[in-house]
Amino acid sequence: MEVDSNINILNHSDHSQIGLRYYHMVLSFQELEKDYNEEDMHMYTNPNNFPFFVIRKTSTSESILRQHLRWWVRDLSISTELCCEDEYGVCRIPKKLRAKEDGRRELPTSIYKTLIKLPVTWKAKKVCLSWVVCFLDNIQLDIDNEGWDRFQCSHLCLGAGKNLPCLNSKHLVWESASDNQARGSRDCLKKCHCGCGKKLCVANYMHVPSCQLKMIDRQ
Ligand SMILES: [Zn+2]
Ligand SMILES: [Zn+2]
Ligand SMILES: [Zn+2]
Repeated sequence: MEVDSNINILNHSDHSQIGLRYYHMVLSFQELEKDYNEEDMHMYTNPNNFPFFVIRKTSTSESILRQHLRWWVRDLSISTELCCEDEYGVCRIPKKLRAKEDGRRELPTSIYKTLIKLPVTWKAKKVCLSWVVCFLDNIQLDIDNEGWDRFQCSHLCLGAGKNLPCLNSKHLVWESASDNQARGSRDCLKKCHCGCGKKLCVANYMHVPSCQLKMIDRQ
């Protein structure tokens, strides 16, 4: 599918076009990061709350936008119990879970105020935290795949095993809605019968990449 950068594209998108909306969020952030600077940040950020990177002047070559977003995500999340295979690491979930947790948070004011001044297609006050993590760590939505505009962001860890918004980028992948919804069947996590020691999900290629919650010790 050819991507139309026309500003109306998001107004005409339907609710299932999650991939399309993510794609436009990335385009908007890419525009924003050319523009967003320390002055923008200081205009709206309480000096006592300046992100650590401003104080330390780290030598990273990342844009100010990426540094600010990284600090923001790190600040609002905690590592939780190890629920995945070692190479995938621990889940990271928001410190303060909301009553109706939908995995979204309001962007830092300085970022939002700068964003709405730009001629970009995606401008939202609230953003899916896992999308921000995908943007920061380059978790790709492959737009050469058919139906990519309806892809969803899956959690290999099944949302820390509890359907929570996990923010570890190694646990995130963009795939079709049906692939996403097929994850987390209890069968995936059972031990394969042949004695290979793998989960059924891995042994039978049920989901690729495989679901990463720890094995359920049942036959
Ligand atoms: Zn996780
Ligand atoms: Zn086996
Ligand atoms: Zn699976």
